[in-house]
Amino acid sequence: SGGESGGDVTTITPGTAPGFPPFEMKESGELVGFDIDLLAAVVAEADGYELGSWQEYSFDSLIPALTSDKIDVVAAGMSINDDRDETIDFTDPYYNADQAILVRESGDFSPAELADLSGHKVGSQSGTTGETVSKNLVEEGTLKESSYNSYDSYVFAVQDLENGNIDAIILDLPVAQTFADQRPVSIAFTYETGERYGFGVREGDDDLQSALNEGLAAVRDSGQYEELRNEWFGG
Ligand code: GLN
Repeated sequence: SGGESGGDVTTITPGTAPGFPPFEMKESGELVGFDIDLLAAVVAEADGYELGSWQEYSFDSLIPALTSDKIDVVAAGMSINDDRDETIDFTDPYYNADQAILVRESGDFSPAELADLSGHKVGSQSGTTGETVSKNLVEEGTLKESSYNSYDSYVFAVQDLENGNIDAIILDLPVAQTFADQRPVSIAFTYETGERYGFGVREGDDDLQSALNEGLAAVRDSGQYEELRNEWFGG
């Protein structure tokens, strides 16, 4: 790589997990979303790097793909947390999210707090912070282990919610809002976790981490960040 216009340019391969609208999803076979556009804008501002072609994984395979060098950066609405920080590094945060509890729009089940999920079937996407909330409910005895369903994609969880196989989904609030706009589901209540999304890089990939942080700052300063937010979240 590199050398075309003077400086050395390193191509980095991005990885994501579609099915997490509006951050990343497939539309007419094409990968689109806020994360896709934001990372492209950030890398365009990051000195010495250019973006290679997107690789798609299930969410729980992204960190293994990163640590085994199949991809160089994760852009997947991934929350920065201590567990993950032991294995990978994160850029500065670029989006805030809490968790939400999604139910059928029909209103046949309207929980008001996590304790109300007791006796019901709950789903989350494998490897997510929503799954951590669900597993904590199992551990504390609120949910039976057999009442918790783990999905490869939140898209399948929403299908199971609609057809009555489960009664609630625990997932990130902005994504819950998007599903609620598009499908016969609605948010029963939110559960504050104060999560912040970052792009993930391999531990020790400090040059890339700094370049992405600089790119992120530039994209905020130029107003591009605000434009992309308006575009994908309707202002
Ligand atoms: N933000 C959540 C997490 O990091 C969910 C991300 C996702 O499902 N793409 O676990």
